[in-house]
Amino acid sequence: MAATDTPRTRITWDYAPAPESPDHVRLRDSYGLFVGGAFVEPRDGRRLPSINPATEEPIADVAYAGEADVASAVDAARAAQPAWARLPGRERAKYLFRVARLIQERARELAIVESLDGGKPIRESRDVDIPLAAAHFFHYAGWADKLRHGVGGRDVRPYGVVGQVVPWNFPLLMAAWKLAPALACGNAAVLKPAETTPLTALLLAEICQEAEVPAGVVNIVTGDGATGAALVRADVDKVAFTGSTAVGKDIQAALAGRGVGLTLELGGKSANIVFEDAAIDQAVEGIVQGIFFNQGHVCCAGSRLLIQESVADEVTAKLWNRMRLLRVGDPLDKNTDVGAINSAEQLQRIEALVEAGVQEGAVRRTIACELPDRGWWFAPTIFTDVAPAHRIAVEEIFGPVVSVLTFRTQAEAIEKANNSRYGLAAGIWTDKGSKAFEVAAALKAGVIWQNTYNQFDPTAAFGGYKESGFGREGGAAGLRPYVHVT
Ligand code: NAD
Repeated sequence: MAATDTPRTRITWDYAPAPESPDHVRLRDSYGLFVGGAFVEPRDGRRLPSINPATEEPIADVAYAGEADVASAVDAARAAQPAWARLPGRERAKYLFRVARLIQERARELAIVESLDGGKPIRESRDVDIPLAAAHFFHYAGWADKLRHGVGGRDVRPYGVVGQVVPWNFPLLMAAWKLAPALACGNAAVLKPAETTPLTALLLAEICQEAEVPAGVVNIVTGDGATGAALVRADVDKVAFTGSTAVGKDIQAALAGRGVGLTLELGGKSANIVFEDAAIDQAVEGIVQGIFFNQGHVCCAGSRLLIQESVADEVTAKLWNRMRLLRVGDPLDKNTDVGAINSAEQLQRIEALVEAGVQEGAVRRTIACELPDRGWWFAPTIFTDVAPAHRIAVEEIFGPVVSVLTFRTQAEAIEKANNSRYGLAAGIWTDKGSKAFEVAAALKAGVIWQNTYNQFDPTAAFGGYKESGFGREGGAAGLRPYVHVT
């Protein structure tokens, strides 16, 4: 018997469970709305539980704000805004620094709540969502006394009251993306978190209290689409929305002719392009990171994988082997790579699009893994033999599903990548710097990564082209939507 055939070499090692304990997390049973610096009852008393998508169990009751609640939050912001704007920038900065520090201090608790409420792996909420949320407050604290330098030396004045609506895929991080620049610029804000993931925003409200942010500068109204619709139609001076393209269009129509500022961060179907000269193993890791990060609930997910024909078989074979090692399950387990799907509705959307892919003739492979009995789950899936017209190549799936298309030449890669109504992000894998720059310049996408994917930094601008929206968040560019330049 050859040495490599001994039974000893056939032992397969498995991970022991490494669950993060939620024991020290102290959530209230029920949350009101955060208006004027205090938690208040919703006027009609409506509350619904926020559900843990990994267990289908309720975590805490959350208020659903009606029109009158939204109006009172806007009034509170209106009353607080002039004094906030009059503060010297360096004074506003102190509050933002405090918020950033408190997010860091409560990072473990925030990460656990984010994973409980949204289903994302604790590894990601711990290492990505929460540190980046703190980093955004730090970054914009630094801008608060340098606003002129961020807009080419011109004078600036804040909009006034901004209404901000965020989705469920990065709840605290999106709240930070919205609030930090708005406050740094001297605006007061009314933020509406998504209905399936309101809890970390409510903890952020507590943090604002602890940081003694002046009452009314930050208001948080929980609720569903009706609350969001009421907020964007309320007496606000600017609306910032992150979410689906359909709702973005509805908001744009509602604001038409009202002179209200608007930025939209919407959906995507981003191309991740692998050239034959790429470092293939590195590219495979980047593909996995590009599509399976946060269960694929990522607006800029590399969901359209374009591989050069000469290496397509090799890349897909290696990708499939790597995918089979992904660990799907308990979001609170530190070994988990792919957690729970955020809601039953989102799971249905993913299943419907995957079914459409099969019906249209693409070849589906889904990794074999044991899924928990309760909760909402979808195992990582790859589609090959995908045609550009297939729905799975055109529509945003927003789940752990990658569609593989191939190309022969650089020109064809660019044409296929741009053949989308979206234009949020793209990835380019090549060892030729000149090729990367040439292709990047030809792509209609707001963010383009070279030999990496899904890297985020508060200093870098993020935003889309076409139906992915307009306006930029992050860095100096992220100040521009929150000030009038005079
Ligand atoms: P969604 O548009 O349904 O909801 C987003 C938010 O808008 C939620 O808070 C929701 O309650 C609220 N809302 C719903 N209807 C509304 C209405 N008529 N008026 C005002 N607000 C309303 O989207 P979703 O399913 O929660 O999120 C997924 C989408 O968000 C995906 O398309 C994704 O690509 C996009 N997204 C984009 C970015 C980005 O930066 N471009 C980031 C994250 C998510």
